[in-house]
Amino acid sequence: MARFAPAMRGELERLIGAEHVLGAPADSPYNADSARRRGLVGRADAVALPGSADEVAAVVRWCYANDVAIVPRGGGTGVLGGAVPSDGGVVLSLERLRGIRELEPTLWRIYPEAGVSTRDVQRLARENGLFFGPDPGAAEQSQIGGNVATNAGGPHAFKHGVTGAWVTGLEVVLAPGELVQIGGWGRKDVAGYDLKSLLIGSEGTLGVITAVRLRLLPAPEAELTLVVFLPDRASGCAAMLDVLAAGIEPAALDFLDAQTLALVRGAYPGDVPEGAGFVLLIELDGSRGEVERERAELVEALGGAPLAIEQPRDAAALWRWRDGFNGVVSGARGAKVSEDVAFPLERLREGLERFERIAVSHGLSSCGWGHGGDGNVHATVLVDPSDVAELDAADAVGAELFELVAELGGSIAAEHGVGLLKGGLLAAQWDARTVQLHEQIKRAFDPKGLLNPGKKLARTAARDATRQLPTRPAS
Ligand SMILES: Cc1cc2nc3c(=O)[nH]c(=O)nc-3n(C[C@H](O)[C@H](O)[C@H](O)COP(=O)(O)OP(=O)(O)OC[C@H]3O[C@@H](n4cnc5c(N)ncnc54)[C@H](O)[C@@H]3O)c2cc1C
Repeated sequence: MARFAPAMRGELERLIGAEHVLGAPADSPYNADSARRRGLVGRADAVALPGSADEVAAVVRWCYANDVAIVPRGGGTGVLGGAVPSDGGVVLSLERLRGIRELEPTLWRIYPEAGVSTRDVQRLARENGLFFGPDPGAAEQSQIGGNVATNAGGPHAFKHGVTGAWVTGLEVVLAPGELVQIGGWGRKDVAGYDLKSLLIGSEGTLGVITAVRLRLLPAPEAELTLVVFLPDRASGCAAMLDVLAAGIEPAALDFLDAQTLALVRGAYPGDVPEGAGFVLLIELDGSRGEVERERAELVEALGGAPLAIEQPRDAAALWRWRDGFNGVVSGARGAKVSEDVAFPLERLREGLERFERIAVSHGLSSCGWGHGGDGNVHATVLVDPSDVAELDAADAVGAELFELVAELGGSIAAEHGVGLLKGGLLAAQWDARTVQLHEQIKRAFDPKGLLNPGKKLARTAARDATRQLPTRPAS
């Protein structure tokens, strides 16, 4: 496809202006997303930066008429290569769609265009006395359109739900290039099939999101963060179940295991008690009274299990420490291979134990942390990126982990999506008939298969989906 690139660029320039169409040389940032750290880099024929929803529709229409692949791109923070042009085509970046179409504080709602950053949505909500729950870790760079396309989560998804729970309507360009509205501001709508939910989490394979109607909530009056240190995995996982059984719903219920703690404890903004082998990071929110009542109930529910329960003086510093885990853990041996999976909460302990055993059987050190209340683990092995045998072992650990997840009734993709790198894994988790429906839905929305080809594939093996692209951790 690359040999048509100059003609392609000329056509796109006619549609959206020459200054908004870029080439994609090998070092273009539009050839990669955060899967670059796993060595994944693609190659686009051109990059289109439309400035309005109508221009997005014009680009999609042209691509569809000319059999050119379209790779929608938000902030490029996805970790599985979802925004990587794996087989040429046009990277369609939403970065210029940054308008706020509507902000109605008294009606608790906001209507940002797809390219508005997650942080700006959170900030605008807060400035108006409101609250937007989803808090994926790369909020400065990620865009609300990308968050919807991946149905992103984060620590606060435990109480407040993943991004999709906040979406009441979408403006989206569907093949072959039509701008449509799906849903609206209504709080109830059971009229048709739930197309909005099909688009949410579709990773650019069913349509291009241009604007998102979001419901907001009044900002909680109070927030209180607690750090609970426990001796080991068994007591830590039991403590999470005890919290639930006591009817307490923290805003966030994150965890880190002993191996993660060993790596990140140096930067912990406080003292780690002797013997700590599992940590819960808990945030309560609500009215002042509710938060105080929940704190008392929580302490009672945890009983004598914790070694210590601390209330950090600076909660923001604690969450910054939490946000830094990726970098610190990667630094331990030069790189890490981290898989985002979920187990049913009552199987979390077994999932963590068996994952560790799998890693050991392949001679690798592992660690795990994540959004424990959701059973969501970032299951990680530490690798030396220059050691091919270790990288092969990490692949083998991943394959066995996904089998384990399917066996325990979990998910191979909790919040990061499937992208390129998890292509084919869904078939291990779903029945054959539902996998077939997954593929039929794709064909109904995208009969030519031009919307983000090779992504979110249910059956094709990741190795085929990534073709010759390298997929090794970068040091
Ligand atoms: C440090 C770090 C921490 C992270 N923490 C979390 C976390 O806590 N929780 C979590 O869920 N994720 C997390 N992520 C992953 C990532 O930030 C999310 O998946 C995020 O939602 C991606 O948004 P983006 O705008 O960067 O999308 P991109 O990476 O650009 O794209 C992601 C996918 O969505 C598609 N897409 C993007 N925009 C559109 C659009 N407008 N219309 C249609 N399709 C589109 C792309 O084609 C691609 O398939 C983290 C990533 C990093 C690097």
